[in-house]
Parts: sequence; C-alpha cells; structure tokens
Amino acid sequence: VLLALAYVVLGIRRMTAGAMRTAAALAVALSFGGLTAAFVIVSGPVAELLTSLWALPVVAVVIYGGVQHTRASIARSARQKHMRDAVAALTQAAWFDRDPEQLLERAEVAARALLGAQDIEGRITRTPRGAHHTSFAAPAEVTRDPQATGFLDDLGQVVSAAADRHDLSRRLRDAAEHDFLTGLPNRRRLDTYVSEHWEREDAGGLAVLFCDLDAFKRVNEEFGHPTGDSVLQATAREMRETVGDAGLVARYGGDEFVIVLPDAPSVAEVVALARRIEDAVVAASPGKVRSLSVGVLVADRDEPREAHSLVRDADTAMFEAKRKGLGVRVFDAELRARVLREIDLARRITRSVAEGEFDVHFQPIVDATSLEVVAVEALSRWVDEDGAHEPREWVSAAEESGQIIEIGIGVVRAARRALELFALPVGVNVSPRQLAEPDLAARLLEAWGPGDRDKLILEITETALLDDLPLGVETLQSLRAEGVRIALDDFGTGYSTLTRLANLPVDVLKVDRALTGDVTTARGCAVLRAVVDIAHASGLEVVVEGIETVEQLEIVRELGADRVQGFLVGRPASHAPQRVRLPQAGSGRPQV
Ligand code: C2E
Ligand code: MG
Ligand code: MG
Repeated sequence: VLLALAYVVLGIRRMTAGAMRTAAALAVALSFGGLTAAFVIVSGPVAELLTSLWALPVVAVVIYGGVQHTRASIARSARQKHMRDAVAALTQAAWFDRDPEQLLERAEVAARALLGAQDIEGRITRTPRGAHHTSFAAPAEVTRDPQATGFLDDLGQVVSAAADRHDLSRRLRDAAEHDFLTGLPNRRRLDTYVSEHWEREDAGGLAVLFCDLDAFKRVNEEFGHPTGDSVLQATAREMRETVGDAGLVARYGGDEFVIVLPDAPSVAEVVALARRIEDAVVAASPGKVRSLSVGVLVADRDEPREAHSLVRDADTAMFEAKRKGLGVRVFDAELRARVLREIDLARRITRSVAEGEFDVHFQPIVDATSLEVVAVEALSRWVDEDGAHEPREWVSAAEESGQIIEIGIGVVRAARRALELFALPVGVNVSPRQLAEPDLAARLLEAWGPGDRDKLILEITETALLDDLPLGVETLQSLRAEGVRIALDDFGTGYSTLTRLANLPVDVLKVDRALTGDVTTARGCAVLRAVVDIAHASGLEVVVEGIETVEQLEIVRELGADRVQGFLVGRPASHAPQRVRLPQAGSGRPQV
C-alpha cells in the first residue's frame, strides 16, 4: 500500500497545478483514508463497506482524468491540423502578396486566432548576411507550449522566405531596369515610364529629348574605352543634375541618352534645357565631348498618338540634327511628313522587290585613248507605274530598310548575264549597308556563279571604306583573294587623303564627277593631275566619271587617266553598249 501510495503521489506531483490535480490528490487521500480505516476497524458493517468502497474515489478520478486526457488530445490534434492549414494558407498567400509586411500581418492574425493570444506581435529583421529573419513576441503561456512555438516558427519561416524572395526579385528587376555603367534607368525602364505616363488619363503632355554625343567613337579610339566609359558616366551625372527632379534621364544605349519631362513645358523651354545640358556635358569632358545632337519632341495631351512613337520621333529629330549638324532639332509637321514619305517609299520598295520591278541598266566605261568599250557599270533602276526611278531617289531608303541587300544580289545576277551577253567586265555598286553583312562575300560569289571572278568589279564608295567598317575591309580582302576586283567609287566626295590610297584593298580608283566638272579650271586640273599621279603611283587604274564634253575628255586624257565614263561616251541603257565616234574637239556632242 505504501509503495502504491508513493507511486500515486509522484504521479500527482508531476501533474500541472489545477483543479484536476487537487481533485486527484483529494481522491487519493480519500481512498487511502478509507483503506486505512478498513484495516483499523477490522470488522463490522462499516469495515465491510470501507473494504469494498475504498478504491472508488481513485477509480472515479482515474476515469475522469482519462476522459479529460482523450478530450485534450483530440483538441490538440484538431489544433495541429488548423495550424498546418494556416501555414499552408500563408505559404499560398506568399506567392501573391508582394509585400512581406502584409504577409507578416496575415501571419499575426492566424497566430492570434489559433493560439488565443491577442498580443502576439511579429517582426522582420535582417541578418548581417542580408537574409531575413521573422520572430514573434508572445505571452508566456504561448511560449511554454512547444506546439505553439513550433507553429510560430513555421509562420516565421514562411514570412522570411517570402521576404528573401521579394528582395531578390526587386534586386533583379532593378538590375534589369538600370544601366550598369551609369546607374541610370535603361531603355526598358524608359519605355515603361513613357507608356505608363502616356496612358494615364489625368497626366499632362510630355517632352522627350533624345541626346547623342557627337563623335563619341573618336573618344574611344583616341583615349581608350575606360576614358570613354568615364565620359559617359560624367555625361549621365551632368544630365541628371541639370534636369533635377523635373524628369527622367535614361541611358538609351551607347552614347544615347533620353530625357523625359512630364507636364510638357513649351518648346522654347525644352530647347533652352537642351542647350544647358549640352553646355554642362561639354564642360564636364573638355577636349573629349565637343557637342551634342538633340532631337526634341513636345507632345500635347490631346494629340492622338501611341506611346512608343514619342521616343521614336525624338530619335528621328535627333538623327536629322546630327545629319545636318544642327545641334537641336524639334520634331515638327515637316519632319513628320518626311518620315511618312519614307515609310511609304519603304513599303513601295518592298512591294517592288517582291514583284521583281527592279531592273538594271549598263553604262559603258571606255578606254581613254581608243574609246573602245572595256567594261560596263551596272546601275539599278526601279521601274513602277510612274516609270524608272533613279537610285538617288530610293537607294538610301533601301539601305535603311536593308532591302538593298536583296536588290544588290539581283544586280549581281544581272551583271553575270551582262558578262555572258556583252563579253565585258561588269562593275557593281555595293553600299556600306551591304558591306556590314557578315556573309556578303559568300552571297555575292554565289549570285555571280562559277568562274570569271576577275570580270566582277565591286564599286565601294570612299566613305564606306574609310568609315568604321572593320568588317568591310575584311570582306573586301577576302573577295579580292577570290579574284574579284575592287574599285573605290565616288573618289573626291569624301575626305580621304591621297596618301591612304596605297593601303586600301582596291585596284581601281573612280574619280567622281564632282572633280571632273572642275577640270577645265586651272585649279581643278591640278587637283585631278595629283589624284591621277598618286593613284598610278599606288598601282591603281584610274577611271574618270562624269565626262560630258569633249573638252573634259581631252584634258583627262592628257592627265593620263586610263578610262572614262560619262554621258559623252555612253549613257546607262538596257541594251548592249556601243562604241562611240567622237567629232573634233570642241565641236559638240559625239555620235553614237
Ligand atoms: P555611281 O556608282 O557613281 O554611278 C554613276 C552615276 O553617275 C550613275 O547615276 C550615272 O547615271 C551617273 N552618270 C554617269 N555619267 C554621267 C555624266 O556624264 N553626267 C552625269 N550628270 N551623271 C552621270 P545613277 O544610275 O543615278 O546612280 C547613282 C548612284 O547610285 C551610283 O553612283 C551608285 O552609287 C548608286 N547605285 C546605282 N545602282 C546601285 C546599286 O545597284 N546598288 C547600290 N548599292 N548603289 C547603286
Ligand atoms: Mg559606281
Ligand atoms: Mg561614282
């Protein structure tokens, strides 16, 4: 009995204080008292009653305790399930709720409801390594319950992971919308900014300044890329400072920056700002940046236009400013009309390319002394319902749209047919845009077909060759290695110095008619003489273009030109070139 008593007392001591423990102690005391009394009294009806009933209190309390325990454990597992559901719901919400603080609030609401404590407070902190940690302050009865603390830990982990993810995605988005070098918003951010602004009903107009550093390529070439980079950084800084919080400054790419001013000020104010920006940028990089080309667009709110056209039109104005050396150019009705014309032209060219409306004419190139036709030049003609259009009307549009590549291939095929028909070498014009194509050489040779490569002369303009076309020179060298001959076309319209001639991968020099027109003057004659002499010294054959009079022909002959080309000795035509008979000098036009 003593042993059993000790066991029961130990059990009661392990119970948590409360009504149950008191009841258990009371029941044990009662039973023990009953049992002891039964021993002491030994016999009689009372002793009998005690002997049979002494265990009743203990049994009652044990049964009651058992029921209570089962009830409690049912409640516990129900709570466990609710906690799991709450964690699952929070995890789910973490994918939609962008803001970790909002998620924390949800976690607090769930914790308070399930743990029955209104003063549970959560907090997100950052670890030294930048990760997030979420903790909950809760009253003692909650922190003493391992199930409750486990639940709070789980909630905390969900919130922390969401905060980490949120942080990472913000950093990624930030990086994707900013330029690494200057820290300015990039083109993507700019596009979003402009379209968001433009689509807002209540927003005012918008001014866009498209700025491009003039001759920035030279800075890189002369001073190296690190200097180029710091010039761009200084430019970004100056622009941001000059604009202040009046608008957004973005790096559009390379040396192009775009400034957007919401609540469009007047055109005059924007132009004044453009000047101030230029002054600041030039002053920040003395000797490196000399000027800026800026295209300005001021769009009125009630103008029906698409957001993406805003920056594009400012870009067009910038291009115009650069082309004409204007500094600042405002996009206006005239420019818009021209852009529309160009778009229309490009569309018509596309249609004509598809319908095969491009034709090729051939102009004879004759020996300067014998006037024998020694070659022809293939010249594209675009024929539509309005008749034949000369290249100057459409070549630059076709270059811009890239269609010149397709057209050029067609010309080479026609040139090959001309070789078979006329048995003469054929010159084909190649524009800079074509030279920029990486597989130009292969495509041209394929169009030309097998053999007779020395009968193909590719005419490249001086500017195309001297401009920064690293690919161009390589392409020409490889074509030359295949036997194709290269002519430097329109010589005298660019800026190349005669001394560079020897280093270029060319065989023929074609003197532009701009120089020919002057040969009758003493100065023009001297210039052409120098050109012919140096070209010959560099091992080049000289063709003088634009010969229109017998007088010009005679002077050119005298100067030692090898070949001539011009209306005097043959106009471009679709038929076979014919030999010309010239009348006496000065007596007018030749007879064909
Ligand atoms: P270019 O290569 O210098 O061609 C010579 C141009 O001068 C031709 O003009 C020709 O008609 C013209 N011309 C020839 N002799 C005389 C003359 O005595 N007086 C005058 N006033 N003009 C003369 P066209 O055919 O209008 O071609 C102009 C330019 O367009 C060409 O200059 C060439 O650079 C380019 N071009 C022509 N066809 C093509 C082509 O298929 N592809 C490319 N990329 N460019 C082409
Ligand atoms: Mg030519
Ligand atoms: Mg030419």
